[in-house]
Amino acid sequence: MKKYSSNTSSIKFQSYEPNDTKIHAFDVVIVGSGPVGLTLALEMKKQNIKAIIITNNNFIPDGSKAICISRESMETFQSLGVADKISSIGLGWVNGKSFYKNEKVYELKMPDNDNEKYKPMTNLQQSILEEILIKKCLEQKIEIRWNNQITDILKNDNNVQLEVKSLKNKYKITSKFLLAADGAKSKIREKLGLKLEGESYSGNYLIADIKIKLDYPTERLAFFYPSSNPEGTALMHKQPFNIWRIDYSLENQLEKKTSSQDVKNMIQDHLNSLSIKKKWGLVWWSQYKAHCLSLKNFVHNRIIFCGDAAHLVPIFGVKGLNSGIADAHNIGWKLPYILNKKKPLSFLKTYDSERKKAIANIFNESKKSTLFMSPPTNGYKLMQNAVLSLSIKNSFCRSLINPRQSKAEKYDFKYKKISYIDKSNFKIGQRLKNIKLSKGFLFDFIPNSYFILNGQNISIDYTIYSINIRNNDYGNFIYLVRPDKYIVYIWNKLNITELDKIVYNEIGFCNHGKNSKNRKIL
Ligand SMILES: Cc1cc2nc3c(=O)[nH]c(=O)nc-3n(C[C@H](O)[C@H](O)[C@H](O)COP(=O)(O)OP(=O)(O)OC[C@H]3O[C@@H](n4cnc5c(N)ncnc54)[C@H](O)[C@@H]3O)c2cc1C
Repeated sequence: MKKYSSNTSSIKFQSYEPNDTKIHAFDVVIVGSGPVGLTLALEMKKQNIKAIIITNNNFIPDGSKAICISRESMETFQSLGVADKISSIGLGWVNGKSFYKNEKVYELKMPDNDNEKYKPMTNLQQSILEEILIKKCLEQKIEIRWNNQITDILKNDNNVQLEVKSLKNKYKITSKFLLAADGAKSKIREKLGLKLEGESYSGNYLIADIKIKLDYPTERLAFFYPSSNPEGTALMHKQPFNIWRIDYSLENQLEKKTSSQDVKNMIQDHLNSLSIKKKWGLVWWSQYKAHCLSLKNFVHNRIIFCGDAAHLVPIFGVKGLNSGIADAHNIGWKLPYILNKKKPLSFLKTYDSERKKAIANIFNESKKSTLFMSPPTNGYKLMQNAVLSLSIKNSFCRSLINPRQSKAEKYDFKYKKISYIDKSNFKIGQRLKNIKLSKGFLFDFIPNSYFILNGQNISIDYTIYSINIRNNDYGNFIYLVRPDKYIVYIWNKLNITELDKIVYNEIGFCNHGKNSKNRKIL
């Protein structure tokens, strides 16, 4: 299949061979050079932790796989210094349309306004995203051991010992922690005897990328019962470089459509149904099934599972890649805090509980979309037809057509909500918004550590970073914020004893006193 996207000529995918027989020791070993492993490596680097990546690949897989990057993932990429590059190639979008046969039945409008730095979604081929992340890792001198695969876990107690196979040798390494981002077929999961649990759905989908120049806007197009697939659905997404993603539910045709010619015929039928007469070429295609599968626990002593190695989510709502990036952003500051002895080892439990709950919420949402997109029984099919046909003229049932696109999850923090903070636009456990300021956006100014966001005209002498802000969104409140932008606590009237207590709980020290050099005024 023709390569259409990433420009990897400047990347040396040099296979690594060990040059001695010593067992090398690391603080953090990351397994996998998919988007999650690469993001984890950049997160570690951001916190000055030396991590290496071990990967059995020595190229960027061609198929574009994920194409929709959420605003929250873009904000994570902003903190890693790659968002500008992604934005310069990616196509931002806000809206979508759903059709039932030939009638429009739903208009998707994701939350957006001129004060947002990123669109709710940015479309970019996963292969190009991986290329950008690899180049950033190499620029930051992160070692990537290409063509090396983890073959065994020899020890997982007060450190992890791994057996690694390079092209010519087998060798051992030890690491204080292992971040397992080795994807859906994780070897590490298998070696620990762990299994993903949950549901797999019967629907079979065909996913194809085609090259065609169409002057349509970037939006999500969903067709229910189109003439090209009268028993199922078709989705269309625009990608950079005149590539379009077409996604079919194959319903009862199941395994039949397996030759490139079948795929081409189906796509031609679909383009005909839209009266598109332009020339096009098939770039890549694959088949997949939807799953809501997850590990029971993401943390196993010093081995921490992230991304597809920890959970598989249906692609409806585009949460596969995005939930893995959220995992990386969550563990990305917690592990360095543990390594730097600012947090105890037991703090890993918060990664487990926060991300497991987020994944459970995603399952809850995407399960609805999966059942609606591909009804597994006659009953669901009846409901889907009723909703779609009623939606032509009635708005009350249209929300069932909503694809429930990816959004930032809210976490449950231990601090009890107190009544007077209810007036804030934000809640404890919620993520900050990247609001527009007179110069730049809020996230351009936040540190890689806990900080205070001070919406009041008072000076707080505290040794943790503090940002004074005058803005309607944040109002007249004081917020204590985690390094991943989640709100730990909100005050409407600062109680310094309480701040001390919470900061002590969070960081292990309370230390107020003049520290104006850290204070930014926005
Ligand atoms: C067809 C398709 C379409 C998709 N569309 C979307 C979408 O639109 N939006 C979305 O959010 N998600 C989508 N996804 C899901 C998304 O692609 C995945 O969630 C994402 O790739 C997960 O990233 P990862 O880094 O966890 O795993 P992967 O990308 O699978 O990376 C795993 C890495 O581990 C390495 N590895 C594996 N085993 C070993 C070993 N033993 N030793 C060393 N290295 C190893 C591999 O070489 C690879 O580098 C799609 C997936 C598919 C298949």
